[in-house]
Amino acid sequence: MQLLSRGDAGPPVAEVRAALEEMGILEPTGPGPALFDDQLEQAVRIFQQRRGLITDGIVGPATYRALRDARWALGDRMLLLNTQQPLTGDDVFSLQERLLELGYDSGRADGVFGRQTEQALRSFQRDYGMSPDGMCGPRTLRHLGYLGRKVTGGRPGLLREQERLHRAGPRLSGKRIVIDPGHGGADRGVSVGTGADQVTEAGLVGDIARRLEGRMAAAGMEALLSHGPDDCPTDAERAGFANSAGADVVLSLHVDANASPAANGLAAFHFGTGTGATSTVGEALAGFIHRELLARTRMLDCGVHPRPWELLRLTRMPAVRVEIGYLTNDRDRAALLDPGFRDVVAEGILVAVKRLYLLGQDDKPTGTFTWAEVLQRESNRPAAAR
Ligand SMILES: [Zn+2]
Repeated sequence: MQLLSRGDAGPPVAEVRAALEEMGILEPTGPGPALFDDQLEQAVRIFQQRRGLITDGIVGPATYRALRDARWALGDRMLLLNTQQPLTGDDVFSLQERLLELGYDSGRADGVFGRQTEQALRSFQRDYGMSPDGMCGPRTLRHLGYLGRKVTGGRPGLLREQERLHRAGPRLSGKRIVIDPGHGGADRGVSVGTGADQVTEAGLVGDIARRLEGRMAAAGMEALLSHGPDDCPTDAERAGFANSAGADVVLSLHVDANASPAANGLAAFHFGTGTGATSTVGEALAGFIHRELLARTRMLDCGVHPRPWELLRLTRMPAVRVEIGYLTNDRDRAALLDPGFRDVVAEGILVAVKRLYLLGQDDKPTGTFTWAEVLQRESNRPAAAR
């Protein structure tokens, strides 16, 4: 699709305006040609911020999809499985959340009506005396509504992640990790400088990924890169790769940039909608990575945040995206250009993964676990303490 931004006009702009007006984010205007004006740009930014999208005020594919999804409220249409083109939208998300609350395992609430959502819906229908047709229409909705929100159960999908973590044991050996360099091939990510002085995000995160891969292999882990240096798959393709590899954890590496050269620091992201559903294991891992890297470097703390981004949402295992500093900041860039710093980052991430599997047992203060100690523990200790 074409990107829409300030100055554009025409039917696609009218559609965006209508969606934002419906949500009450944009003041309705009278008849006349639909323009992408300052007010619309502001409304798009507000919407993007609420949805955890990049707040650039431009309507690209991700924002457009989110706008379309946001227009569906539970009850607007019949929900059922379409394997060719799965239904997506906020109504699907609400249904999944409701099923999870009632204790039916519809998987991660991701707004996509897939096979697991259908199965959970059928179980619900069976238990409440309806014909288990897997279709969510008025009758099923009435039942879901009657039950109200008083009944609360666990969140099986996310609880399952925790269960798997507890069963996994403390050793790194045998764990399968997908390392995802955020950019590659023609997509260099953010970059500064030109010619021989050019520094690119793709180059830096590719290098950190290889350092991490080497250390993980040395610790007996199975580390897989989501793509080669010449490729740049979409986020959905990266998630698909991790899912089919049956990875235990996904680590996505990025470096940020900002119009202001003063912006700097480290941020980590895990799956979460900001309105309830959160991957607790993903959050824990994001926290470990964040704290280890802050303790080992002098980067500014830009926090750990839940985001519904595609890579985090579509992966069936805990996934963390980390933004390691700003290329547009002199100090962050100088640090990133130092190979020693990139080693420190790789080791900090590895130690954070180790911490996740230690489950707080036998732990050491943040920033003090050394690479040599991790290796020694992996080689000497029996696979006990489960
Ligand atoms: Zn990036």
